[in-house]
This record gives sequence, C-alpha cells and structure tokens, in this order.
Amino acid sequence: MFKRIIGLAAILISVSAFGSDLSDAVKSDYDEYLAGLFDHFHRNPELSTVENETARRMALELSLAGYVVTEGVGGTGVVAIMENGEGPLVMMRADMDGLPIEEKSGLENASRAQQKSPITGNMVYTMHACGHDVHITSMVGTARHMAAHKDEWKGTLMLVVQPAEERVLGAAAMKEDDIWGRFGTPDYALAFHVSSNDVAGIINVSEGSPYAGADTVDIIIHGVGAHGAHPHRGKDPIVLGSQIVLALQTLVARELSPRDPGVVTVGSFHSGTKHNIISDRAHLQLTVRNTSNETRELLLNGIKRIAENMGRVAGLPEDKLPEVIISNESVPPTINDAALARRLKQAWAENMGDDAVVDIPTKGMGAEDFPFFTVEPAITSVYWAIGGTPQEAFDVEAAGGDLVPSHHSPLFKISPEPSITAGVESTVVALMALMAE
Ligand SMILES: [Zn+2]
Ligand SMILES: [Zn+2]
Repeated sequence: MFKRIIGLAAILISVSAFGSDLSDAVKSDYDEYLAGLFDHFHRNPELSTVENETARRMALELSLAGYVVTEGVGGTGVVAIMENGEGPLVMMRADMDGLPIEEKSGLENASRAQQKSPITGNMVYTMHACGHDVHITSMVGTARHMAAHKDEWKGTLMLVVQPAEERVLGAAAMKEDDIWGRFGTPDYALAFHVSSNDVAGIINVSEGSPYAGADTVDIIIHGVGAHGAHPHRGKDPIVLGSQIVLALQTLVARELSPRDPGVVTVGSFHSGTKHNIISDRAHLQLTVRNTSNETRELLLNGIKRIAENMGRVAGLPEDKLPEVIISNESVPPTINDAALARRLKQAWAENMGDDAVVDIPTKGMGAEDFPFFTVEPAITSVYWAIGGTPQEAFDVEAAGGDLVPSHHSPLFKISPEPSITAGVESTVVALMALMAE
C-alpha cells in the first residue's frame, strides 16, 4: 500500500516536472528562435499552391533540426522524417498557405507582401489571415524539441508541411503524390488549427467532428432571352433562379433532422446585362456543409431534385432543365477518433493543467482538407484547436466594443506567443503520449 502511494507520488512528481520543464523549454525556444521565425512568416505570406519560399524555409528549418527532408511532395509540400527506433509512425501536419487579403490588423509586422495570383494572374496583397504561420512556426518548435529529446520517445515522426489548404487542394495532392507509399502509412495522424474563437493558449478538442464536410455546387439555369417589356416571349432565368434559391432553404429546414447539422448557402447569383433585357442564363454558386455522409447525400440529391423540378415548374423542356454540377473540390467531414481524443485530453490536462483543455462545440460549419489524410485508408486521428485571442479582447467585445476579428478578415490578429507555445506544447505532449519509451 505504502509502496503504491509512494509510486503514485513519484509519477505525479515526474508528470508535473515534465510539464513545467516542457513549458520552460518551449518558452525559451520561443524567445530565442521561434518568435523571429514567426515574424518572418507573418510578413511573407504566400498564396495556395505557390508557397515556394515558405516551403523552402520550412525544408531548411526541418533539416537543420536533423530531419530527412523531401521537398516538392504534391506541389510545394514538404515531408520531414525522423526515425528513432522501433515504434509507431506518427504524422503531424501543418498547413502553410496565406490568403489574397490586404492586412489591416494594425500590427507592427503586418504583411505588405504581394504575389501574382495563380488564379487571376493579377498582383494581390497576401496575408496570413487564417493563422497558418502559427502552425508552421509551431511545427518547427515541435521538430526541434523532439530532436533534442530523442531519448524520451521511440518510433518514426513524420512532419508534413501542406500546401493549399485554403483551396482544399493540398492534402489531396500530397496523397495523389503517394505520400504514404513513399514515406509509410502513419499509425496516427495529428493536426491543429489556431482559433480566434478561443482564448489564447487554450486547447479545444472534440470527441466528434471539429470540422464539417464541404461541397462546392454550381447551378446553371438556361432561360430564353427576351425584351424586358415582353416577358411572355421568354423564360426568365432570374425568376426561376430566385424560386430555386428559396426552395433550397426547405432542404435544411424541412428535410434534414433538426438534430443533424447542415448548411446550403447560395453565395453567388449572376445573371443579366441590362435593365430591360431578360437574360437567357443564370449561374448560382453554392457551398453545402455536412457532418456525415448521409447528410451530404440528402443535401446534394435534394439540390438536384429541386433545381431540375423547378425547371419543369417553369415549363422548360427536358433538355433545358437547370444543370447541377458538383465540383470535385469536395472535402469529407473531419472526424476525431473519440478514444484517442480522450487519451490526449488526459495527457494535456496532466501536463498543461485541467484548465488548459476544453471541449467547446464549434458553432460554424467550417471545413478542412485534413481528412483527405485520414480516409482511404482510415487513420486514427485527432484534430484540435489552439486558442489565439487574448481574454481582454473577448471582454472588450462583450462590453460592446470592437468585435474579435474572425479568420479570413483583414483585421485578423492572433497573439503569437501563447498560441505558438501552446501549439508546440500540445503537439509534443500528444506525440509523447503516443511514442514515449
Ligand atoms: Zn482559412
Ligand atoms: Zn486555416
């Protein structure tokens, strides 16, 4: 009995010692190294698929940390491997792309960078408006810590620097480039996103689905053009399109179970050229969100059914019915392995304190392309969030002051130190939980 108590006490002491040693080590690496690196990344964001300099810098940092680095995986992707004896293969992913936004955060190191858009060919301002600079900087911190503590873990660590998350292209491109065939299929896959919705430094982890699945859908409506003064001579695609937009609202409101989340948003509606011309075409652009395959099918089938049948209602011939095009830019929902999420929650609470870990359900239906790494073949995975907004900013908002800027806003502003140090600590604790000797 005494032995057991002493043993337990020893474990508790070693656990808390590990916790504070780890946070001291991460804090000093932040001050001496990571803060400067973050500053560099924040000032120099690059757009999806053309993250050339960012990838080069990440490859350099990870090889300096002692990893075997391969560049050009699935475009600009980087894979860094550290083999350290018999044990699991654990993959950690960080996405690295910025957005075509002119930064207006007012920060001293706000980006003034510009880059030629690979989509439009125009020069655009670029901004790390989603915090991917936090992810890659944290990855370097994790890489350095794991390399310096090789005696504490066994197995193979695979660090994946992913391009083009914002266009949900990068993870699929790396899979397409045979990442698992070339570097091994991981036993576990991990990733985190910094979140402006959570208090800086907090870990928010779900045992369910932290991110929705998303589909991009286009509806092309064929009308019959006519003079605006002679509507009976045409088929007005704007009226038909408006009926379709309204009818689509019934999918979530009346067909989906009220306990099952789903979104159908018509984000764009284009038609016509002039006041008095009835156009012969309208184009709707939709985003459709779900957290399960069943919901996905219900919504996509429903959109097709409504669009085509509203065309029939308008009296269009069968070969002129609205066309529904489902883009292959679709992502499955991100679904955490509940048992692993519980295991990591416990490890985080033991090492970083009970207060550091929360499970606050997400309110939106944002999507991620990380699940391309974790489906077909299925890989046990957990995706968590690290808070990035100081408590004071939430207090100001609650008192009726400035709103906390959201992701993808030109005002987006993350507190780098607590986010990056929590990013490194939480990743190291998760890796140690899976790979400790
Ligand atoms: Zn984003
Ligand atoms: Zn993001």
